[in-house]
This record gives sequence, structure tokens and C-alpha cells, in this order.
Amino acid sequence: MKKILAFAALIGIAAAGTTWNIRRHDSPLGLTPQEKCALRDAPHDDLSADFSDLRQNMKNGARKLTHDLAAEKTARATLSIQGPILNGIFDADVPAGIQGQMRADMAFIDDIQANAASALHQKIFGPANGRTYMDFFTSRVKEIGLDDCGGGPGVMACVQPYTNHSKMWLTPNFVKYDMPQICRAQIVFHESRHTEKKNSYWHHATCPDPFKDENDNEVRGKVTGTPMAGLAACDETPYGSYGSSMIMVKNIQKFCTNCTEKIKMDAGIYADDTLRRIIDPDAHKEICEDLYRDAPKTICKELPR
Ligand SMILES: [Zn+2]
Repeated sequence: MKKILAFAALIGIAAAGTTWNIRRHDSPLGLTPQEKCALRDAPHDDLSADFSDLRQNMKNGARKLTHDLAAEKTARATLSIQGPILNGIFDADVPAGIQGQMRADMAFIDDIQANAASALHQKIFGPANGRTYMDFFTSRVKEIGLDDCGGGPGVMACVQPYTNHSKMWLTPNFVKYDMPQICRAQIVFHESRHTEKKNSYWHHATCPDPFKDENDNEVRGKVTGTPMAGLAACDETPYGSYGSSMIMVKNIQKFCTNCTEKIKMDAGIYADDTLRRIIDPDAHKEICEDLYRDAPKTICKELPR
């Protein structure tokens, strides 16, 4: 049943990798009271000590300070990831590593600033910034659970709208592969679009068979290499899950003012790849006019009618 009802982002993954887990501390800063006081007390604890003892004590104190600062920095980073981002929406059985990855990805999204947004972006999301994206996501996705989403190596997440349309499910694949952060962000925003009951959850369209790219190569999932011909992994509108999420990511590539070059490069790669899934000639053209006016014609050549 789930296989039929799940709306998943069919983004294939080519190579396995590892991903990091959030370290959790029982005590937020991970320090005992003695450790916290060590610096203050060390150089002064024996006023009768000779200078060599004092020097040694100061060295120990400095070492301790460095150590404590490193521990505090790690703890603060952990806390900022565990902080208010997506609080209270995970099921208890979603593993800490998956929750942590998702929170870290959304913390990155939350920080995004941009100096412009395309017309389609304005229409779907509003201005391009972290606040807009977080509002968009959290007004749609109210719960996050763990599921296999029908199985398959390329399925990272899904929405099962006829069970609970405002719940997104993550699969263990979400943290299994060494995917760029922007790719995971695109996946979860793709899924968030499938929660929209008033839009009949934005069903996918069936990809053509054969399905060739602009260079006449078979279109395959970017990550698994699975041929997409004949699969329900395309869109006929700029506003569906593939369209809206690639418009978001392409805007991040073009207009983000505080993203690294690596993030922008990944954003361009994944957006351009997803554009191939927009198979309706008018929808394709609309996105091309919105975001690819300055791009090589090969990416945006007119689709046959
Ligand atoms: Zn989908």
C-alpha cells in the first residue's frame, strides 16, 4: 500500500559514504564543576610555591583553558543544532543521527540570505531567505517519522498523504550517503510540497520513455544512476514538487549572499539536473525564462511538442 501512496523524491545515489552524527552530552557543556574551576584555581592554589611551580601551574592552566574552550565550542555547536530548529516534530523512534542531520540542514536553510528572488520563486515561496523557507516548511510539515517509504536505495523521504498529509517520513538512506547538504534540503522541500491537500498533493507526472537529456543521453537519477524513463519521477508544471524545489535551489545558487561557493555550485548542479524532470514544454520554458536567461542554450533548449 505504502508503495502506491508514498510520494517520494526519486533522487538516486551513486556511491555510499558516511555522514556525521550529532554528539549528545548529558551535561550541556560536558564539564564537571572541578574542571570548570581548574583554570581559576591552578596558578594560585599554593602561595608558598616557588616560581618554577607557579610557571608550571600557569602552563597547566593555559592547557586546561584551551581544552575547556574546545569542549565548550563543541557543546555550543551541538546545542545550536539541537536548539529551536524543528523542536517537537520528530517521532521518538527517529534515530538521533537522522534528527541531527535534518536539524543541521534546516539550520543552514534558516540562515540563508539573498539579494533577489526570481518571479516564480516570489510566487511560490516569497522572498528568498531563511525565514521564508522555514515558514514554508513548518507550516506544511508538522511531524517527521521514520519509514522505508516503500523501499529502494534511492528513496530518502516521502509523504504518505492519505495516511497523514502533514507528516514527512525520512528513511535511513537520508544519512547513508555522502550527499551535498543542498541536495538533502531540496529533497525535504520537495516532500513539503506533497503535503498540500488543496493542490491534490502535487502528483508526479510519468517521465517519457525513452527519456533523453539535451545531449541525447539517457536521463538517470543523479545519485543511484537509475534510468528515469517511464517512472513517475517528473513534473508537468513549475509548481509541483520537482519544479518548486529546483526553483528554490536555483535561486540559492544565483542570489544567496552568505552561502559558500561549494553550496552554490552544488545548488546549480542539482537544480539543473532536476530541470530535466520538467517535461511539459510550456512549464520548462517558464522556468527557463525565469532563471536561465543567462545560461547556455543547451540547458534550456525548447522541448518538442
Ligand atoms: Zn515527490
